[in-house]
Amino acid sequence: SHPSYEQVMAMIKNERVRFINLEFTDVVGMAKCVTIPVEQFADCVEHGKWFDGSALEGFVRVAESDMYLHPDIATFAVLPGKVRPSSSQRKGSSDLSSDSEILGRVICDVRTPDGERFDGDPRAALQQAIEQANNLGFTYRVAPELEFFLLRYEDKTPVPLPHDRGSYFDLSTDFAVTVRSQMVQALQQMGIKIEASHHEVAEGQHEIDLASGDVLQIADGLMTAKYVIKAIAAQHGLYATFLPKPFYGVNGSGMHIHQQLMSLETGKNAFVDEHNEYSLSDIGRGFIAGQLAHARAMCALLAPLVNSYKRLVRGYEAPVFVNWGRVNRQALIRVPRLGSDPHSSMRIELRGADASCNPHLALAVMLRAGLDGIERKLTLPPAMDENIFLHDESERLRPRAQLLPATLREALDLMSDDALIRDTLGDSIYEGFIDAKSIEWTDYSQQVHSWEVERYLPVF
Ligand code: GLU
Ligand code: MG
Ligand code: MG
Repeated sequence: SHPSYEQVMAMIKNERVRFINLEFTDVVGMAKCVTIPVEQFADCVEHGKWFDGSALEGFVRVAESDMYLHPDIATFAVLPGKVRPSSSQRKGSSDLSSDSEILGRVICDVRTPDGERFDGDPRAALQQAIEQANNLGFTYRVAPELEFFLLRYEDKTPVPLPHDRGSYFDLSTDFAVTVRSQMVQALQQMGIKIEASHHEVAEGQHEIDLASGDVLQIADGLMTAKYVIKAIAAQHGLYATFLPKPFYGVNGSGMHIHQQLMSLETGKNAFVDEHNEYSLSDIGRGFIAGQLAHARAMCALLAPLVNSYKRLVRGYEAPVFVNWGRVNRQALIRVPRLGSDPHSSMRIELRGADASCNPHLALAVMLRAGLDGIERKLTLPPAMDENIFLHDESERLRPRAQLLPATLREALDLMSDDALIRDTLGDSIYEGFIDAKSIEWTDYSQQVHSWEVERYLPVF
């Protein structure tokens, strides 16, 4: 189903594409883009496009700033009309014909001037992890659930939609449904398959679930999905946010990821063994055990903001403990009950991540952690299916389940001790990530927050 070079060139011609966004992701998960006129595209496919890598956070040392973007032609897509900047949004461009705004986008690999794969490219880290899975006889398929809030700005204050529980409630809800279905359509037009979409628990909170797919395609698709969702919201004067915990006291937004390992030999779901408990194979048990073993250390990559740790608290359907369960929606890892066909329905859902992560890095460490559990034949602890939130204190549970890190600082310290994660990312990304995130933590921790002023100033 991936387009060939000839098909892409035909698409560019037929759809009158004028500019192409060359996209890649930096270490901390920011989408980066260099736009070229379409006339340069053939040359770019052949030789790559030069860019100055030193401008990117955590990407390169200044001494090695010359980098080249090499398009992965299989990822080419034309941006749907609603996702393009309109002439009214682009000041001073109203004289351009609408043709000039037709944009294509393609995901790129980053290479050095010698044509070597650049070791600071998160996509390369994921591709290496995939290779390791292939060597062990597996492919990795994932399906992420993207949660986000739709906000309206009122006097510079973000308020969730619908903003009025009274007479406008139905109207606003309909409006949100329209916006959401436009998001889904735009994603589908770009070749990103959608499984479902629905309103989430909190007011103004929504979810779009991507259909299960090959992990590289999904990681690339997630970067696209985030800006497509934001762009469609902006078309309606709204703001879509993936911030993990935008409002105190309200459910946050996570990015649960459903995972399957498929056997290269049989093409079947390697997590299924109908003779085992829950039909979960030894490979599946090892995979979960591996992710639990590395859960605390990989948290910094899956939930990388200071704010991420305000989501991972009790009482809001987000995980707090390093555990797994079947019906327990508060477990870090969940193996949902199987449908009539165990091979299509068996999946392992990891619920710790949020959409602020770099998906290539998060999925690379998730895969390697699972494979590590299989290779080392780690033992899976029993499923925790009671509602652990009914217990009032975590103390009683500590011998049975560890807690996820409570802050970004703790998460970074745990990551610093994990050799498997270092190996998965490579030294350059590993160090770049920890440095960038440590600066972020220090900046946060030295601020005086409004809570401190409100709580302490009147008293001390
Ligand atoms: N919003 C919850 C979270 O932060 C998840 C809710 C759900 O179960 O989908 O993970
Ligand atoms: Mg959800
Ligand atoms: Mg879920």
